[in-house]
Amino acid sequence: MGNACVDTTFRLSRFPAVGETLNATAYADGLGGKGANQAVAAARTGAAVTLWTALGKDPAGAWIRSRLDMELSDVQVSVFDLPSDRSTIVIDAGGENFIVSGVACSQAFDPIVQTALARRITSGDILVCQGNLRGSATNACLRAARESGTRTILNASPIDQAGLADFRLADLLVVNQSEAKALTGRSDMAAAAGALAAKGVGTVVITLGAEGCLVLGPDQTRTLPLPAPHVEALDTSGAGDVFCGCLAGGLARDMPVISALKFALTAAAIAVTRPGTLLSCPSASEMAALVDQTEFS
Ligand code: ADP
Repeated sequence: MGNACVDTTFRLSRFPAVGETLNATAYADGLGGKGANQAVAAARTGAAVTLWTALGKDPAGAWIRSRLDMELSDVQVSVFDLPSDRSTIVIDAGGENFIVSGVACSQAFDPIVQTALARRITSGDILVCQGNLRGSATNACLRAARESGTRTILNASPIDQAGLADFRLADLLVVNQSEAKALTGRSDMAAAAGALAAKGVGTVVITLGAEGCLVLGPDQTRTLPLPAPHVEALDTSGAGDVFCGCLAGGLARDMPVISALKFALTAAAIAVTRPGTLLSCPSASEMAALVDQTEFS
């Protein structure tokens, strides 16, 4: 469950100064939002995915819905009398960006109160949450999952220090390096993983960009580094979402945790060689080939 939005990307030769208007060299709308991105990546692995999300009663909401329906067979939408969530992404010639987001729907979304999520999840399922909803709403979902014996993955991104989810409710926590540092104050990632485990998380996964990831399981005393395939990266936006979606998809396809992490590392490495966020995510047929190559041990 999570957010879905319109990402409008403007490419500019340089950023405008305050008060200045500049024409973009290119611009386009795309489906975005961490919830949507991760659901699509998971569905492309061949896992059966239901996305629980919130949209506004506006043309943007209808557009997001049509794009979700092209990718997912089960989309459960809560519709609010609010503007649909959207992000404006401005990228300069050097690839630097800034992003401004409108998040009315994800902030109003409370899946346990407003949807049938709690009644639908069962012990064989995996609930994947991110950091876009209010912490209390995310916690209610994680708690309901725990009560149903459902495995939980929390990708605690973006981090809202004032509204953090309860990490004790996460069987698997995924964060990137800067999030791990922000959450623990530790620059050393093995120490950060230990500090996150001490908060009561089951398994801690810290993604390390081109270096792959670190994993610290509940029975492990030391972190296990898993390298990423070496690739020529072109655009790393959305890599974390491909990673999380494929991790969930791999687990849903009965891969053990380490196999699912290796599968996610391979899929994310493919994504960073291509432009775009969702556009760069491996297709269903590419995922099928990756699943075939994965050792389930
Ligand atoms: P985020 O995208 O959330 O900032 P990371 O930068 O850690 O997080 O990237 C997430 C995952 O994407 C990494 O664990 C890795 O699997 C993959 N990835 C990112 N950058 C690269 C890269 N340059 N080469 C290969 N894989 C990469």
